[in-house]
Amino acid sequence: MLNSAAAARRALPSIDRLLKLDAVVALIDRHGRPLVVETLRAVLEAQRAILAGDSTVSAPADETLAADCGARLKALSQPSLRPVFNLTGTVLHTNLGRALYPEVAAVAATAAMTGAVNLEFDLGGGARGERDSHVEGWLQRLTGAEAAVVVNNNAAAVYLVLNSLAPKKEVIVSRGELVEIGGAFRIPDIMARAGCKLKEIGTTNRTHARDYEQAIGKSTAAIMKVHASNYKIEGFTASVPETELASIAHQHQLPFINDLGSGMLIDLEAYGLPHEPTPREAIAGGADIVTFSGDKLLGGPQCGLIVGRRDLIEKIRKNPMKRALRVDKVRLAALEAVLRLYADPARLVRELPTLRLLTRAQSDIEAQAKRLLPAITDAVAAHADAAIVACASQIGSGALPVNALPSAGIAITPRAKRKSSAADALSIAFRALPVPVIGHIHDGAFILDLRCLDNEAGFVAQLVQLRIRNGKTA
Ligand SMILES: *Cc1c(COP(=O)(O)O)cnc(C)c1O
Repeated sequence: MLNSAAAARRALPSIDRLLKLDAVVALIDRHGRPLVVETLRAVLEAQRAILAGDSTVSAPADETLAADCGARLKALSQPSLRPVFNLTGTVLHTNLGRALYPEVAAVAATAAMTGAVNLEFDLGGGARGERDSHVEGWLQRLTGAEAAVVVNNNAAAVYLVLNSLAPKKEVIVSRGELVEIGGAFRIPDIMARAGCKLKEIGTTNRTHARDYEQAIGKSTAAIMKVHASNYKIEGFTASVPETELASIAHQHQLPFINDLGSGMLIDLEAYGLPHEPTPREAIAGGADIVTFSGDKLLGGPQCGLIVGRRDLIEKIRKNPMKRALRVDKVRLAALEAVLRLYADPARLVRELPTLRLLTRAQSDIEAQAKRLLPAITDAVAAHADAAIVACASQIGSGALPVNALPSAGIAITPRAKRKSSAADALSIAFRALPVPVIGHIHDGAFILDLRCLDNEAGFVAQLVQLRIRNGKTA
């Protein structure tokens, strides 16, 4: 027995012999020699293990080994980061990459990516420039702030502000605002890492002006407000208005920091959407420093924006950690293009995908659902029924979850008895399409909210490849 297994292993070809096969030469052409050699080694090793474990099998033909190598290389060359259809109903989905760049930003980003740019070079004087200067003017115009700094994301913005303005000192925050944003961003943790002492005041539901006043002492460096982005405390509540917080801070010569999170640059109510506080309102309300994300409602690249008083911004800019948290030329180019769009509100709603998707009318989405229903019904016919349903889209990324947007979609309901595993099988099948389709399961049905479906033809074209495994076996 042992001898025959050893003989079968000896019958396996050498790497050199396989490298001469036409099929393998073609693989080298496509993938390069090192990767092909590495993969052939793995194929042979796997075969040796099989042969060692079962003496009844014999060594496969060289062509079979080459085909195995080809299949492995094909899987390897598939990008890991891939386009998907976001039909979750959440417009700014953190796990699906949040905001989509408008075309003008993609063009500007590509130009910055593929050529040299005046990133830190003053074209007038020929001297060294400041990278944030490319967007500072727009941010001043759009927020009313004196100066601005751009960093990697809003978590970095909060960190850098605290680390610059309050090292080893106390920052006063209401207990009702000690939030976790998701992805392990917790205000108390960031504050500790920034080297500040958190001074919690008030209670979860009620904080009063006197709580702030009593907490101010010799080691206080700032008062901070954190926008309650992803939750809402209702009922017997009290918080101190921003203008009052600002005046308490200023009476004690302390800066008032306002972390807005989403921070939309224009008033969303003008577009029939729920109000989100704007940086302009926060600055007008007396905040000395305001922080917000670039890829939430603003609809731009991932970055964190810090705007406010020039003397404080200078201090923040001089912090050596700014260097570690700065953004590259690509995102600055995209951000500049997005901020320029904001100067023209009529263009903005047409060209900024985030705003266009958020303002899509339910009737428009419903019409799209009607167009798609026959194709989806056909694709799932053997297993499930499809029907048009009303949906409630979420803005996402910390905008208030209670403010749902009326939308429409397709509910695919399995006919199997065990509805939940059959709905899982549907969601797996849609995720396995060439461009994975991400929906959500509700009440035993797989739901596709169509608010964010732009490429309708591309979506329909791949439905013929849908392979649903039986609910029982999935
Ligand atoms: C989202 C959010 C953050 C973190 O912003 P990122 O851009 O995700 O780093 C911080 N504070 C608040 C209030 C937020 O909503």
